Amino acid sequence: MYKGGAYLSLQLLKKMSNKNLPDFRDTERAFRHLSDRDLSRGRLLFELLSRPWLVAIGSFFARLALFINLPIGWAIRPTVYAQFCGGEDVAESEGTIALLSTRNVKTILDYSAEGVDAEEELDMTCAEILKTVNAASQDPRHAFSVFKPSGLSHNSILEKDASKFTAQEQEAWERVVRRVRSICAATAEAGGSVLIDAEETWIQDSIDKLAEDMMSDFNRDRAVVFTTAQFYRHDRLDFIKGLAFRAKEADFIVGVKVVRGAYMEKERQRAEKYAYPSPIQVDKAATDADFNSAVEFCLDNLDRVNLFCGTHNEESNLKLCEMMMKRGISADDKRITFSQLLGMSDPITFNLASQGYNVAKYVPYGPIREAMPYLIRRAKENTSVAGQTSRELMLIQAEIARRKRQH
Ligand SMILES: Cc1cc2nc3c(=O)[nH]c(=O)nc-3n(C[C@H](O)[C@H](O)[C@H](O)COP(=O)(O)OP(=O)(O)OC[C@H]3O[C@@H](n4cnc5c(N)ncnc54)[C@H](O)[C@@H]3O)c2cc1C
Repeated sequence: MYKGGAYLSLQLLKKMSNKNLPDFRDTERAFRHLSDRDLSRGRLLFELLSRPWLVAIGSFFARLALFINLPIGWAIRPTVYAQFCGGEDVAESEGTIALLSTRNVKTILDYSAEGVDAEEELDMTCAEILKTVNAASQDPRHAFSVFKPSGLSHNSILEKDASKFTAQEQEAWERVVRRVRSICAATAEAGGSVLIDAEETWIQDSIDKLAEDMMSDFNRDRAVVFTTAQFYRHDRLDFIKGLAFRAKEADFIVGVKVVRGAYMEKERQRAEKYAYPSPIQVDKAATDADFNSAVEFCLDNLDRVNLFCGTHNEESNLKLCEMMMKRGISADDKRITFSQLLGMSDPITFNLASQGYNVAKYVPYGPIREAMPYLIRRAKENTSVAGQTSRELMLIQAEIARRKRQH
């Protein structure tokens, strides 16, 4: 029996034995798309990630190698990069896109360059995201496009109150808005949808405002633009309720990606450093409660609010299935999408997809060096999310053992 955070309660195991709900313990279905070799690589990787000291040392040396320009691609490419990234560019990600689509899982190409700052680099990131919009527009194997606003703007601009901009900052901000608008307009024209990722609270107000403006402009008939709400923040339930209210008044449709949030430690440290109240919930239970209430709110207002549920939490995914069933919402309702990251929680992704739910994987891609901050975050997240790595590992081991028995 499982124990701890991401482990399953007896009640949850019972739910999974309900024939109408997906069974996240079906490892055969979960890993059918992976070869024995892929599984062995996954096992080794999650074994290593389950040792926090090793992840800390590995992250330190990876950062150092990046800083002093050491070639580390040979070590990264066949290991963490192969597990969590699709390839160096859209064309190289084709194998992953094809593999996912054989199991009815769609791709969300996520250009994973972080920490770019020069104006030309921001323009290049925008051009790259437009490529993903273009790829998605011609190919039903793709679901959404996605971008991080910090990839299109200097953080200092996002951080500053617009009413205090200098003339130069105002110009920089207008360029940011132009980049974001070009992506949203191209998505609308292509008949697709685009997710705007959420980031740290100190830049999030500008992102929220920009996302709402874009929704107001492009979401008149359907949800083209999706904003993101992080429920480790204690103010986000009110935030999405307020957003839905304003959308009704102004007659546009809200698209919202619901997540728990990825920057908890950073948020708490900064709040402590500058002595302001932490924006983070008091505990995990409070985050879970608001996450569930938000999902429920979206389902109850589906005509106005479309839901994109991004989580690796088994209970949250099952709960959403249950809530949909209870309300008579069909599994393939276009207004609801489930999503996980490439290389993580395949048992959730593929078992949901096999029951007809709309499921999509974020497929990060980009040059290895530029993907390094993302990969370090993935490694750290897998170490810090209680029980998650051991769950991934346990299920991979179970599948390897099952295949051995069969041979
Ligand atoms: C498809 C997808 C898209 C994503 N997009 C974004 C994004 O745009 N922005 C973003 O920030 N993150 C994003 N994430 C990451 C996400 O926010 C979580 O960090 C990650 O998924 C882990 O949460 P969980 O719900 O999967 O799992 P769980 O294991 O159920 O939850 C872990 C999370 O709970 C919260 N938590 C843990 N301990 C506490 C505590 N003591 N008090 C309060 N809260 C606590 C933290 O947010 C932690 O990450 C995305 C994730 C996915 C799968």
